Amino acid sequence: MAFDTLGLSEKVLAAVEAAGYKEPTAIQAGAIPQVLERRDVLGIAQTGTGKTASFTLPMLTLLEKGRARARMPRTLILEPTRELAAQVEENFEKYGTNHKLNVALLIGGVSFSEQDKKLDRGTDVLIATPGRLLDHFERGKLLLQGVEILVIDEADRMLDMGFIPDIERICKLIPFTRQTLFFSATMPPEIQRLTEAFLQNPARIEVAPTSSTSDNVTQLLKATGSKDFDKRAVLRELLEGAEDLQNAIIFCNRKRDVTTVFRSLERHEYNVGTLHGDMDQRTRMTMLDNFRKGNIKILVASDVAARGLDIPEVSHVFNYDVPINAEDYVHRIGRTARAGRKGTAYTLVTEDDHKYLSAIETLINKSLTWVGEPIDFETANKERKARRKTGKAAKSVKSSNDNEAEKPPAPSRRRSPPKPRQVVESSVEEDQDALAPIPVPKNPEPSGNRKSRNEKQEPAFSPGVHIPAFLLREPRPKKAS
Ligand code: AMP
Repeated sequence: MAFDTLGLSEKVLAAVEAAGYKEPTAIQAGAIPQVLERRDVLGIAQTGTGKTASFTLPMLTLLEKGRARARMPRTLILEPTRELAAQVEENFEKYGTNHKLNVALLIGGVSFSEQDKKLDRGTDVLIATPGRLLDHFERGKLLLQGVEILVIDEADRMLDMGFIPDIERICKLIPFTRQTLFFSATMPPEIQRLTEAFLQNPARIEVAPTSSTSDNVTQLLKATGSKDFDKRAVLRELLEGAEDLQNAIIFCNRKRDVTTVFRSLERHEYNVGTLHGDMDQRTRMTMLDNFRKGNIKILVASDVAARGLDIPEVSHVFNYDVPINAEDYVHRIGRTARAGRKGTAYTLVTEDDHKYLSAIETLINKSLTWVGEPIDFETANKERKARRKTGKAAKSVKSSNDNEAEKPPAPSRRRSPPKPRQVVESSVEEDQDALAPIPVPKNPEPSGNRKSRNEKQEPAFSPGVHIPAFLLREPRPKKAS
């Protein structure tokens, strides 16, 4: 199918040609004609399927008629994160080169006054995160009665981040006569309910269930010991041995590990950057930009920071940990093999990961291939049980001795003074490459950019994760020679 059969305007078709796209993707072929017919659309599609263009291209066509009025945006696109909002803005820049449209971005971490100025000028396309949008609305700087098209993107991600009440509120502030385009990778019951409440007879376009992984990704497993230094050594081995490695994203389950793996690779002189939810907006954007441009080859990231990002041409994904949530696996490896390209995803697996690995294999309905020796989970499990038994037996002997020790000493026995506690340093010594100082963000958030009332933080990583004291220590000053 060709783009020019979809009903897009000449200007938009010229931009599509300039972008080098030969044919519409499935979600584009399904959604574009419906949007142009002014129907509500329910698109079930993940990032990487060409979803963004499936709403930006027809919106640009529809926006060619009419003009924007001050403080009354004509269209509104809601995104869960600042990065995704910025990505959609980039799409409007790319596909809207032949249009003179005002596009404004309302995201947290940026001063209100600049955003106010843009709103005053009149915006054709307003792209916002829910919290910041409501802040502007409450300050009386924004009127939503003029919104003709509302896009709710990444709805399931909005749900994960606790944005659904905000979305419901925003939907009620926009005239009922609007057109609504709703996108989600999955359809949990809460999202289903939302679509029933806010969409009118939508055209449903479903392209690929989340449980499916692209056939273009070679998915491999690699056995590793569970100690951090084992895992880092295996990771380096994979990085060295990976074929055609152009660039890579390494996903860790815990923020602590994002930092440690990043520092370790830096010490081993890899060209590496990091992306996690604690970084301020400017640092995150700079990091992503450097990765996109190829100035940084390896990005160590958390799920929260990286989900939904469109980073074209990632050749490899490494899962430093097996993700606890099986769907995260699908999202992670979906960062590679985008838009018809090939990619490779390696997952490091320890003996303790059986449950999580099985959940992934069940979800994607596929047995993954091991590189090198596979883990024999059955034997590992038996050994673990036996170890636990021996441990318990030893403990019960110890505790009966302890009970003895708790008895008051016989009056005739003299108690010897307590021995000084021996400090066990060995694990730290073995873990030398984790001793570099923790990088402090270079651009601390200016006080004017503090989070406002409606802006929600990204969910914290693994709450309660303990950071070992040695990671928190100031680096020791180098000795003068
Ligand atoms: P998205 O799903 O919107 O994140 O898009 C994923 C990637 O596919 C982006 O890098 C787009 O530039 C690219 N893309 C979108 N539409 C097409 C198309 N029709 N042909 C080839 N690449 C496309």
